[in-house]
Amino acid sequence: ERNQDADAAIRQTDSDAALARISAVRKGHLQDPFIPHIVPRARQAHSSPPLINIGTYVRSEAIDRLVEQWLDLSKQDEKVCQIVSLGAGSDTRFWRIATGPRKDSLGSYIEIDFPDVTTKKAMAIRKSKVLSDVLGPPESVHLSHGGTALHAPKYHLLPVDLRLPPAEVLASCLHDILSSSLPTLLLFECVLVYMTPSASAALIQWFTDYFAGTANPSGGLSNRPGILGGIVYEMFGLGDAFGQVMMNNLRARNVTLPGATPYPSLSTLPARFINHGFTTAKALTLRNIRRDYLGPSELERISSLEMLDEVEELNLVLEHYAITWGVKLLGTVDAPSRAR
Ligand code: SAM
Repeated sequence: ERNQDADAAIRQTDSDAALARISAVRKGHLQDPFIPHIVPRARQAHSSPPLINIGTYVRSEAIDRLVEQWLDLSKQDEKVCQIVSLGAGSDTRFWRIATGPRKDSLGSYIEIDFPDVTTKKAMAIRKSKVLSDVLGPPESVHLSHGGTALHAPKYHLLPVDLRLPPAEVLASCLHDILSSSLPTLLLFECVLVYMTPSASAALIQWFTDYFAGTANPSGGLSNRPGILGGIVYEMFGLGDAFGQVMMNNLRARNVTLPGATPYPSLSTLPARFINHGFTTAKALTLRNIRRDYLGPSELERISSLEMLDEVEELNLVLEHYAITWGVKLLGTVDAPSRAR
């Protein structure tokens, strides 16, 4: 029972993320016409403090740009790209891509979360014409597994507890919908912290093996994809005073963070991918990204939206969140010419 309470607290973090997004959209930081259709009672949502709005904006914008670069890369290779979002919650990224300028580069988009979360999302999709119109003609969209899963030509919503052994829970549901021969991007946006380090490692390793052909009986050398990518967004470095405050706040709400400890500093974060044979990986804090990557006009636009008098406090918060991304070139690392 304690576990059920703890899981409910973890699922609740999705509502928090969605409400933060609604607030950032309402304030003008982000544009997202889809989020009000996914979150019930979105109109009654409270505004978040400026600091949270800015954090939500920096995170969302940075991940959007990485995803866009990934879609453009696939296009250069004249391939469509697959995106798998783990712990997708109420995320609207599929709808934003599928209605945006890069829609033709998207092969398929797969979202995974706890059954309670996927059921609510599937219901919201069915109820909303705005959301379902993007999925395709009604006859091409269907619910399965008692309404916990939804399938459309380019979109799949799947109920899985990601802490369970991937070979048991992922293999069967992804086998038919995830091609092992297309460029693929894995998104872990604020989810790995809720899992033990060994469960996250098993998850990333399972995907790595899937694309290397070892976990996929139909995948041989000839149909290997060129490239596998991953993006992780997470809190890190929680050993300091700020970290203690954050952990205590979450504990008070019954949220446990079994995955918060293994990466104490920015320089250790790329190991998330490098440990699984990724060719390259890099991590930046939201503080770095805000300062160096958004560009002066965006920075100015954002600061004009909020009365923020405590830039130091903002930086303290933003430097405890990081985006890590990795790329694995497949079929080259262990090619025979290298072995000789
Ligand atoms: N990725 C979304 C975003 O960034 O807006 C949602 C983030 S929310 C903080 C964390 C999500 O991960 C929740 O929807 C939660 O249900 C999901 N999650 C956490 N642990 C999970 C697990 N073991 N299996 C499946 N989903 C999980």
